[in-house]
Amino acid sequence: MAKIIDGKQIAQNVKDELKVKVQEFFVKNNRQITLAVILVGDNPASQVYVKNKIKATEYVGMKSLSFYMPATSTQEQVEETVKSLANDDTVDGILVQLPLPKHLYENKILSQIPAGKDVDGFLAENVGNLMLGQDTTVACTPFGVLKMLKSSGVELSGKNAVVLGRSNIVGKPMAMLLLKENCTVTICHSKTQNLEQVCKNADILVAAIGKPEFVKANMVKEGAVVIDVGINRTENGLVGDVDFNAVKGVASQISPVPGGVGPMTIAMLLENTYLCACRRNNAK
Ligand code: NDP
Repeated sequence: MAKIIDGKQIAQNVKDELKVKVQEFFVKNNRQITLAVILVGDNPASQVYVKNKIKATEYVGMKSLSFYMPATSTQEQVEETVKSLANDDTVDGILVQLPLPKHLYENKILSQIPAGKDVDGFLAENVGNLMLGQDTTVACTPFGVLKMLKSSGVELSGKNAVVLGRSNIVGKPMAMLLLKENCTVTICHSKTQNLEQVCKNADILVAAIGKPEFVKANMVKEGAVVIDVGINRTENGLVGDVDFNAVKGVASQISPVPGGVGPMTIAMLLENTYLCACRRNNAK
């Protein structure tokens, strides 16, 4: 039976370690690390995410600035808010909660965030740096998956890693991170053929496709490590992209949903904010 990778506990450890580092930063620099969060509109799920992010920011001793803008905000108004935070030297990180209301151009708004304050790691400059193997801000979810693997003592170098999904925020950066760790990486998507066999060859399988319990036991190699990024709301509650009950009988380690990757994403957002603050300080 697979060992369960406890994302909640690993995330708690990350936050507790950050608490100490954030306090040290304050003592050394005489200022609080600050994360600005912008929420446009009243999407209930986004409201919950933002509330949790603010709570976690304050838990580690960072300052949070929140900007709640009405759904009717214009492109100019949202861009101006981002620009003013971009020019504010006391702000270390800027997060625009997605999705934005449909009438707003997401890319144009995000592009107002300077790469050094892009705590989500979504901007082309940060994605490009990751591709070049340089020190940069990495998207929180794949960054969290890597932290989970390392914290669980998973040997990465030389291993076959299969990433299911090629989105810009999960699949692609995940593959780049695993490549940097010397895995042999295969990226799969909706047009991949012989998916079962490809998955069966994985020592490390990361599922990020958004299809409830898609990965079955017959797709997993005996002893593989399986990380489930998926979050799917079904009538049976929240489930991942992996058939957890079946796959745990085959894998050596597996992350659950909920309590796996989800909590890591917020913890790595805080880690990214801390790293952005340190890089900005070093650049001065
Ligand atoms: P996207 O919808 O942007 O991407 C899904 C990817 O899965 C696409 O590349 C798609 O292929 C691929 N895919 C879809 N169906 C199949 C299939 N049958 N076989 C193989 N590949 C397939 O999703 P995200 O990357 O944003 O998110 C993926 C999942 O992770 C979702 O459940 C999401 O809720 C969750 N998530 C969880 C987070 C967390 O904090 N735990 C954070 C972010 C996401 P193609 O490109 O060909 O269309």
